[in-house]
Amino acid sequence: MKNSYLKPGFRLLFASLLLANFAVVSAQEPPLRSVTYRLSMSLPASHLFEVKIEVELSDAANQSLDFQMPRWSPGRYAVFDFAKNVQEVWAASGICPTQPGQGTHTTVCRQAPLPVTRIDNQTWRVETKGNSALTFSYKVFGNDLSGTFSQLDSRHANYNGGSIYMYIVDHKADPVKLAITPTGVWRIVNGRMESANQREWQFPNWDIMIDTPTEIAPDWTEDIFQVNGKTYHVVVHSFGDEGGKRPALVKDIEKIVRAETAMWGAPEFDAYTFLMHFAADDRSGDGMEHLTSTQIIEPGALADSGVYEDTLGTVAHEFFHVWNVKRLRPLEFGPWDFTRPANTRALWVAEGLTNYYGHLMMHRSGIWNEARFLKRESETISNIEGAPGSKLMSAEQSSQSASFLDDAAHSQRTNLQNTAISYYPKGELIGFVLDLIIRGKTNGKGSLDEVMRRMYDEFYLRSPNATYYLRGRGYTTEDFQRVAGEVAGYDLGDFFARYVRRTDVLPYDEALSYMGLRLVREVKPQPYNAGLSVNASDGRPVIGSVRNNSPAEDAGLQADDELVSLGGNKVTIDNWLRVLARYKQGNRVPVVVTRDRKTISTTIVLGEPDRIEYRIEDKKDATAAQKALRAAWLKG
Ligand SMILES: [Zn+2]
Ligand SMILES: [Zn+2]
Repeated sequence: MKNSYLKPGFRLLFASLLLANFAVVSAQEPPLRSVTYRLSMSLPASHLFEVKIEVELSDAANQSLDFQMPRWSPGRYAVFDFAKNVQEVWAASGICPTQPGQGTHTTVCRQAPLPVTRIDNQTWRVETKGNSALTFSYKVFGNDLSGTFSQLDSRHANYNGGSIYMYIVDHKADPVKLAITPTGVWRIVNGRMESANQREWQFPNWDIMIDTPTEIAPDWTEDIFQVNGKTYHVVVHSFGDEGGKRPALVKDIEKIVRAETAMWGAPEFDAYTFLMHFAADDRSGDGMEHLTSTQIIEPGALADSGVYEDTLGTVAHEFFHVWNVKRLRPLEFGPWDFTRPANTRALWVAEGLTNYYGHLMMHRSGIWNEARFLKRESETISNIEGAPGSKLMSAEQSSQSASFLDDAAHSQRTNLQNTAISYYPKGELIGFVLDLIIRGKTNGKGSLDEVMRRMYDEFYLRSPNATYYLRGRGYTTEDFQRVAGEVAGYDLGDFFARYVRRTDVLPYDEALSYMGLRLVREVKPQPYNAGLSVNASDGRPVIGSVRNNSPAEDAGLQADDELVSLGGNKVTIDNWLRVLARYKQGNRVPVVVTRDRKTISTTIVLGEPDRIEYRIEDKKDATAAQKALRAAWLKG
């Protein structure tokens, strides 16, 4: 997933550092004789996907089958409980024949209802009553255009399988068939098309079926290009003006594909699909990785300024996941236990390093110049070094807090803005610094690129298959540390202890100096926010959060206080920072707020400047050798 779409919303991690591997998969029973999913969408405006699961039982007669909706789906680690949108669950004996080309509702045959009991909030149990075959059906509501959820409306059906398809407990590994009946003249497209107008698929297991997001609509477009014998489909469904930019976009996507395959080598697939939406609703946005496709949803229209570059940034990130996450993966990443949140210490590798390379590949593909890339990394440094959570939460702890951070919704108030950091930017900076240190210490013989390639080779290509789900096996962070140390030529135990497992400030100066660069720390022209964030509430300035150990906290200010005046000057949502900027360190600034219908006066004593910006710039005395190392790094 791409983190720029994360909405603020955090919850405190009580760091009971459970190192146990939660991805325990329950023992598989002998496979069912057949499992067929039938998806139809007869009433698009209802937002109700209609799902039928036809099961032929094996001889060892099951007394009952449990159908279960996942609580979350791979790539987004917050728990959403997709079962909340399931309705009209029903089961019956036998399987009705389906006429080719007809919806599942048009068949007529005699079926006896079977008892269905809801076992818990995600599981429905069907008694088989001695039948050799049964049909389980339900509807599921979906009206979110997102790589995580699904949407059915009058324009299209777009789904993430994990949010609409139940699996059969203990039979997730069984082969499954999928048959889709589109409504009207809508056409189906996904990352596993073997022919145009295809309506049926065979998948080795349920996990691969839900790894195949699918778009069904009358009016998507498709552009195709080839790189090294592989075919790339760019499928675009635009809800706004494209401004004639699509041909250029496809050309730039090809540049990114070339840059990333140049680093990794040939991808394993024959064909790959970019499923892209330009939502033009200023709201829907996502990027989600899959084995042979990605879903990319931009909130704007392609014609809007900024959308073009943002789309390419998402493409560079998601396509990197073809290797890092989808194939080279943490130990806990599949097959998953969808009854509990994912638990891994490695999301800083999976997402953070992908963030780093997403930015680097924008440069290597020629879309960003060197200055633009270095500016992007210095923005991440400013973000992480300015976040109070950086002092409290390590990259590993952030990974383990994913279910609280990853766009999770919070009903109770949290202090995560003071205690948490995201593994996306933190992991990005670990990758950035580690890459430069390896290049510096090995005089350019080693690199993080080489670490990633060795990891892919050892864990994906050469390890025996550990499970039914996918080739190879997953890695632990200790595996990653070992391989990185082998490439670096020295033990990275100290680096990992300080910067991955603890919260020490990364050695930016050392890393940058190898490349003839340096980090410059600058106090922003408006140095003080005094530890406040201010939101507009009905146009009035209301305190959103208060930083721990800040002048605002010392003054007794609290979230939800409405700011009335600073230093006797009336403040608004637009001017409060400018008003504060009139004062210097050590000044005492009278503050008036309203809280619970009372007016409260207090004084903020301004401390050290707290708004710091970082900039990466050339070292004046950079040597030719350092410049050569930098050129090799930027070129790849
Ligand atoms: Zn990602
Ligand atoms: Zn669509």
